[in-house]
Amino acid sequence: MRIAQLAGRTVVLTPEGAAEVPADFEGHVLERWDELHDWSRSATGARPYDEAELEAPLPGIPRQIFAVALNYRPHTAEAGYEEPESPLVFTKFPTCLTGPHTTVELPPGHVDWELELVAVIGREARRVPVDKGWEPVVALTVGQDLSERVAQLAGRPAQFSLAKSHPGFGPIGPALVSLDEIPDRDDLELTCELNGEVVQHDRTANMIFPIPRLVSHLSEFCTLLPGDLVFTGTPAGVGNRRTPQRFLTPADELVSRIGGVGEMRHRFRKATS
Ligand code: ZN
Repeated sequence: MRIAQLAGRTVVLTPEGAAEVPADFEGHVLERWDELHDWSRSATGARPYDEAELEAPLPGIPRQIFAVALNYRPHTAEAGYEEPESPLVFTKFPTCLTGPHTTVELPPGHVDWELELVAVIGREARRVPVDKGWEPVVALTVGQDLSERVAQLAGRPAQFSLAKSHPGFGPIGPALVSLDEIPDRDDLELTCELNGEVVQHDRTANMIFPIPRLVSHLSEFCTLLPGDLVFTGTPAGVGNRRTPQRFLTPADELVSRIGGVGEMRHRFRKATS
């Protein structure tokens, strides 16, 4: 099942198009996920749609967004750090979320890309053992952890959350993809392209802390809630570790693709004030 948001309505995406879910599921997508999944197998009334009109696929605003730093070895090395012994966690504040095909305003500074697989929590969870770490996760989606590097790296110690939370800095989509749709949820191909050039390419099997480990770790501290998102970290190839450095400009198009999950396309413009 691929759940998306189109013109303010929850839809299921099928090969024929987008079908609106029955009205009684609206507002209860995660709590009635299994029922919705049963309904989606025989969904009718799908109509063609323009994928540029898809909105952020989560119905409503998540209460918590967790994000993980340095979760791929080559990115840890390019950033100049040693491999962490346990997950390094920060937040992206929820007002940063945007859809899969938007134009994102660039604030002053250096805005960089970070393609990431995002896990969507469907069930409240606390102290989840690693071997049950997939259980609270109902779906995966594609995410970009857009980051303004000047403010992100300014402090000693650096603090990440604000510089990664400008409006539009949390694109997600195009759909919430249920785990049964994904052939190997532990090994997905990530490809990030800037103006057609591949800038990041890796597989999620290379995460230092895979999703079950992240869910277990986070739930030792926080109660995970339906709708919460976990940005699982970015592979190597970000702009501020390149020589020369490279950052997003209004001339760029950023394509974010994860095999079996989907693709997003973003453009940029300078902030007006
Ligand atoms: Zn990140």
